[in-house]
Amino acid sequence: MQSHLWPAFSYPQDPFGEDPIIFSHGEGCWLTDSKGKKYLDGVGALEAMIVGHGRKRLADTAQKQLQSLAFLDVFRYTSQPALDLAEKLSSLAPMPNSKIHFTPGGSEAVETAMKAALQYHYLRGNKKRRTFIGRNGAYHGVTLGAMSLGASYYAMRNDIYLPQGLGVSARAGAADEEVFGSGARHSSDACRIEEMILELGPENIAGVVVDPMATASGVACPPPSDLIKLRRICDRYGILLIVDEVISAWGHTGALFATEHSDVIPDIVTVSKGLSSGYMPIGATIVSEDIASYFTGPDGFFAHGQTYGGHPAACAVALENISIIEEEGLVESAEKKGPILIEGIRSLQAQHLTLGHVRGRGLLIGIEIMKDSQKKIEFADRRFAGTTFRYLLRDAGLLGINVHPGNVLLLAPPLVIQLEEITIMIEMIDTALRALERAKLD
Ligand code: PLP
Repeated sequence: MQSHLWPAFSYPQDPFGEDPIIFSHGEGCWLTDSKGKKYLDGVGALEAMIVGHGRKRLADTAQKQLQSLAFLDVFRYTSQPALDLAEKLSSLAPMPNSKIHFTPGGSEAVETAMKAALQYHYLRGNKKRRTFIGRNGAYHGVTLGAMSLGASYYAMRNDIYLPQGLGVSARAGAADEEVFGSGARHSSDACRIEEMILELGPENIAGVVVDPMATASGVACPPPSDLIKLRRICDRYGILLIVDEVISAWGHTGALFATEHSDVIPDIVTVSKGLSSGYMPIGATIVSEDIASYFTGPDGFFAHGQTYGGHPAACAVALENISIIEEEGLVESAEKKGPILIEGIRSLQAQHLTLGHVRGRGLLIGIEIMKDSQKKIEFADRRFAGTTFRYLLRDAGLLGINVHPGNVLLLAPPLVIQLEEITIMIEMIDTALRALERAKLD
């Protein structure tokens, strides 16, 4: 297709040579393309869609707000939806009495967190604390700071883009497989991060940035104890713990914030995606009361803010979206339905040698494909195999994405998914696995 659109993360040529699907509408967990074909949205529109597609209530909320006050910056003014949403987020966040900075999306929320952390240390007289540590293979967004935190194929252009030394990532060690689960060898646990802190000198480290589920790094599922260890390590060395909940918040893991599984209080939390279920672009950086208190003194000017941060319509929609999540008990629903979906997919292992480890928490799930899962033989080109599988799933009617190191398929369906739809999803995965086995990839 000849188009003027320059898509995200695009290769000069799609190795599969296919045109993108043009979607025209959505309802619940289903999306319909311009030719009328229906697909089950297995990845919740890039992990954002919590309450399901086609919610008139959210469209009406946006319309009402756009008609009364379409836009106003938060540089000099504010709007009631921004105030109300900030109050709501502060009441829900793991840190009591937190302050909220709104952004247009997830990358900017992480960037805001990094800038706030740098200035916090500066204001406390620790001007050397300028480096952040992330996990190997993590994805925290595309702005320069956020991108510096991961080292995976998402970051393969970092040598062109990045200022050196801002973000470094802790490599996985041999023992990490035990922590993150079989097959999730791509992420580094708390011990690896502590080794890195000591290597670089704790006095140089501003923050540790992790997503509690390590989604991009193969949907690795660290046990809740990992975050507890990280909290202790950060406290030991005066380092801020920044938890990136851009994917994991709003119920995906069976808790409103995934940090709740660990009962840990981070210093900064970033959210986006499910905050509005994607009905409006919005993100937020939630900072603890202690950090916020340093920005109130004479040097507290925070040189940061974006025109569209705290957009009134986006804030109004996000508030309504949170009401739906609460009213319909969607967090509890993910907690109940996640294990059903995971067990259903695992039940396919008996028939499919290509189906490797299946892991997840709540409805945030990773499926690993392998050439022979019993003999533990990987495909020669894992990214090619994973992309092939993604296309085969699409042919079967299920949308997902493959993540690091390429052969892991991420599923994060809308939390409104019904049990019959879970059964359909499992059948679609079965169909795609059969097709993968027929394809006989090396
Ligand atoms: N952080 C995490 C954990 C993410 O998964 C993403 C996007 O997928 C981001 C940050 C960046 O968010 P955005 O694409 O809205 O900039």
